[in-house]
Amino acid sequence: MSAPENIGEVLFSAERIQDRVRELGDTISKDYKGTDPVLICMLRGAAIFTGDLVRSISVPLTLDFMAISNYTSGESSGAVKILKDLEESIEAREVIVVEDIVATGLTLSYLLRSLQARNPASLKVCTLLDRVVARIIDVPLAYRGFELPDVFVVGYGLDFQQHYRNLPFICTLKSETRAPEL
Ligand code: 5GP
Ligand code: MG
Repeated sequence: MSAPENIGEVLFSAERIQDRVRELGDTISKDYKGTDPVLICMLRGAAIFTGDLVRSISVPLTLDFMAISNYTSGESSGAVKILKDLEESIEAREVIVVEDIVATGLTLSYLLRSLQARNPASLKVCTLLDRVVARIIDVPLAYRGFELPDVFVVGYGLDFQQHYRNLPFICTLKSETRAPEL
């Protein structure tokens, strides 16, 4: 099955995403007026979202990047590995973590503990998608794009086997059992 043929249902159109990201940017601009926050883009899934979001924010800001291994249920500790750490200190900074999707909350909860230990002035989360029905650990989400039903999605930065990140919309797949033939 080729990649385009494997696209299932479009849940969020490109236009709807762009509208919502602008709204989030406006809200963040108001909330952070007079400050100079650092946005932390969680690689790789949040890269596209972050790129659009920062261009909708009018306050001065800096951008940093972090990559962590995804939590898998097989790892009973709930610990995730930092694959790429921040370039700069976040001590005394207003920090906004930008995530693609929060599901169980396990990945984010570990990440927030690690970032809190670095003594930021404040620490908030902005996630594009929230699969709230999958939550295991309660994590505070200051900003959220859309609530997501219990389905696997790709597009707008989200991947299946590293593909589909370039789709401008968010959709389900017909089949998640085989790699796309590209
Ligand atoms: P959790 O909140 O369960 O610890 O993990 C959330 C992470 O799992 C997300 O940041 C994302 O990388 C990945 N993830 C969860 N649901 C989906 C999905 O529907 N599609 C894709 N592509 N990744 C997902
Ligand atoms: Mg992720």
